This record gives sequence, C-alpha cells and structure tokens, in this order.
Amino acid sequence: MYGGRLAARRVLLLAGESNASYLSRVAAVQGVSVDFLLGELGAGPPGQQALAPHLAEVFLSRAAVDRLAVMVQMNWPRLRRALPHLREPHLLPGQQARWDWPWQPLPHYLVPACPLCAARRGASETAVWLVRPDVWTICRRHDRFSHVRQVGTQAVDVRRLPETVRAHRVRLRLERQWGRQGRSCPQMPSRSSDGGGVVACSGRCGRTGRGGRTCS
Ligand SMILES: [Zn+2]
Repeated sequence: MYGGRLAARRVLLLAGESNASYLSRVAAVQGVSVDFLLGELGAGPPGQQALAPHLAEVFLSRAAVDRLAVMVQMNWPRLRRALPHLREPHLLPGQQARWDWPWQPLPHYLVPACPLCAARRGASETAVWLVRPDVWTICRRHDRFSHVRQVGTQAVDVRRLPETVRAHRVRLRLERQWGRQGRSCPQMPSRSSDGGGVVACSGRCGRTGRGGRTCS
C-alpha cells in the first residue's frame, strides 16, 4: 500500500489548499520529509526536490492522486473537493504515477490561509497556503484579510471595516454570477427581469460574462 509505512493519522482538509501545502502538513504529521511522500506518490523530474509550499505548487497525475488517496485514506472526490489542483485541468497528463514541481510563473497565487481556519483544522497558523486568483483573500467565516507577502500570523481582522467586508461579499456574488468578468466590473447589478439569464450592466464596461452574456 502506498504510504503503508506511515501511521494512520488523518490530516484534516482545508478548502482551497494547495497540493504542496497539504503534502507538507501530511509529512509534518507523519514525521517524514515531503520528498519521502513524493517518492511514494510516483516519479518526478530527475534531481527535482520538494520546495517550500509558499514558493511553488506541486502537480500530480491522476495515478499519483490515486496513490495519495490510499496514503491518506480518503477517496479522490473528497480530496479534489478541497484541493483545487487535484481537479482537471490541473492534473498532469499520462497514465504514469508522477509529480512535477514547476519553477515557473503560474496563473494563481499562494496566499496564507486564515489562521483561525487553519487552527480549526488542526494546522499551525503559518502552515496552510491557499490557491487564489488574487494576491490577497478575505476569510468569509472570520473576516481575516491575508496577503501573499504576509509573514507569519499577520492576517488582518477587517471586522471593523464593514465597507471592506461588504464590498468583498458583493464581489464574490458577482464572481459566482459572472465568473472572472465579475471581478473587473464593479457596476454589475443583480439579474434583470427578462427571465432569460441576461444580466445588464449599469456601467459601460461592454464585457462579456459567463455564458456569453454581455454588459451593455
Ligand atoms: Zn477563517
């Protein structure tokens, strides 16, 4: 069994966590190195070693994810619900069990998790890194702002800044409605009354949203 030499210790999942962050936490709980875990998961590029989770992300093939699921005693659907980079299209292609830790710019940022959420999942305040489309995030549960350049436990409590929290929640709603276009159009109101799913923008951004809908 993959990881059969590891003790039966569960590491609680945290939604949005990076693969590298999760593997680092598993390794820490088991008292082994991340390189050891990677060796159990499959083959990597020659000479490539584990990197710190705040620096880069590690990607796995489907066969390697299957091994990970056996190792941590969770099924793949559960893992991929929590870890966005265990979903298509982020899996490495091919049938071989393998991993890769590309040292190159990627279309996401690694942002520290809210320390309160990390603590709820039994993790160190500085141990969890999330995959985010922006350099910052605000925890919806605890209203903690964290930034990619944040060090240690510097997450900012924004509960005293209700305008900021409100604006963030409006933005999240627009993102759910419009996808990425909702991030850049601050004028988009709620759905129009035409019942056809068309959303009108009170601004003049002229952007096209999810499903081809266009602001006008
Ligand atoms: Zn939180």
